[in-house]
Amino acid sequence: MSCLFCKIIDGTIPSTPVYQDDECYAFADIHPQAPVHVLLAPRKHIASVADASPGDCALLGHLLWAAAEIARAKALDKGYRLVINTGPDGGQTVDHLHIHLLGGRPIGWPPG
Ligand code: AMP
Ligand code: ZN
Repeated sequence: MSCLFCKIIDGTIPSTPVYQDDECYAFADIHPQAPVHVLLAPRKHIASVADASPGDCALLGHLLWAAAEIARAKALDKGYRLVINTGPDGGQTVDHLHIHLLGGRPIGWPPG
């Protein structure tokens, strides 16, 4: 398996864990774009949200719930941004589905 995030999830490549359960693993982004920048990925390899199947629906919902749990744990009471970059135009650089959790400062809109 050559996937970077699969290697992070299985511990082959080190990371800073933030949250984990049976379905997902969250870790600190190596190039943080905000005071809080967490990546949340399913343990199951799914290349992108565009590659999710109907059988993944519960898992996708679980990821959103887990993101909110992490935000609560980080006391992001003023809000935060969840981002799922998808494909080349979406700016996806790692082909393992992940949610960016960005917070700790106002996050601008629209994106670049
Ligand atoms: P994306 O561009 O949406 O695919 O997001 C990939 C993210 O992975 C980027 O924000 C990178 O900074 C981050 N990243 C790349 N390699 C690592 C790593 N080894 N540990 C933690 N985050 C990483
Ligand atoms: Zn993977």
